Amino acid sequence: MTLTLPVFLATLVALVFVWVSLDWLFGALRHWHETSRLRKNFWQCHLCGKHYREQNQPKTSECPSCSGKNVRGGHRKLG
Ligand SMILES: [Zn+2]
Repeated sequence: MTLTLPVFLATLVALVFVWVSLDWLFGALRHWHETSRLRKNFWQCHLCGKHYREQNQPKTSECPSCSGKNVRGGHRKLG
């Protein structure tokens, strides 16, 4: 089998396409993992809306601004 120029160029383009696709995929996975990790440490107060950081992910947390109790995972809907 002889390697012709069109076959070589098509292989090169295919390899570049695979490389770019894998780079995009791993970049997206890294971004998703990082935002998921950050989201676990940040809380938003349901009373005043303040965003604050809580290091050791407790089940309930107290807002430093209004002292409101916040529950992990949101609140039950009323009614
Ligand atoms: Zn608050």
